[in-house]
Amino acid sequence: MSLFHPVNLVCPKCEAPVVTMAVGSVNADRRPDLREDILSDRFQDIECEACQEGFRLQPQFNYLDVGRGQWIAAMQADRMRTHLQVEDEAALLFSESYGDNAPAAAQQVGKDLKMRVTFGWPAVREKLLLREHDLDDVVVEMMKLHILRSVPSVPMAEGIELRLVDINEDNDAFVFTWLETATEKAIEGLSVPRDLYAAIAANTTAWEPMRTRLENGAFVDMQKLYMGEGRPSD
Ligand SMILES: [Zn+2]
Repeated sequence: MSLFHPVNLVCPKCEAPVVTMAVGSVNADRRPDLREDILSDRFQDIECEACQEGFRLQPQFNYLDVGRGQWIAAMQADRMRTHLQVEDEAALLFSESYGDNAPAAAQQVGKDLKMRVTFGWPAVREKLLLREHDLDDVVVEMMKLHILRSVPSVPMAEGIELRLVDINEDNDAFVFTWLETATEKAIEGLSVPRDLYAAIAANTTAWEPMRTRLENGAFVDMQKLYMGEGRPSD
């Protein structure tokens, strides 16, 4: 079931009160239209009735897609700095819903679900897009690390991130965009040959230590490699 609840907001432009329905959980198997909305960058878009200003409610929901094996705790962009805490909360919720502490039938469903934590709209959209194209998100994060080391200038700053936003029509290039996490504003785009994905995916030995670090927790995102102390590895 997809669950919605009313929330009271204030229009960022005219400060009129706006009441909207916020989603607490998305079931993509039953509501494929909500998955489409996320992929089309229009989910939880709001328009102020007083001044017609458009804005968007930040994500704060659990996303379930049994058919595609995805379970995502999609959180607000500004919670990224608390990613370890969010990961722990998500792991607990997953465990009770589909993991070790869930009823047997739910555990059966859970064994095919990949748990992820994301912050902001571009991140959750990226996870859906990667699954759509049967791509390993860990390898795509490694591609980003490679890009950081390879291109002469990167618009890196706090609140700016690199996201895969599309695969080109010929299916031979990945389209990345540097964007502002909170506003989704695009800053700079770049196209990367698909061969890079294949090369990194094939070179498992060299990338193994990085894979271990990226998969240490459900927040599979290169940004965690340079945020705070990180999670101790065991
Ligand atoms: Zn307004």
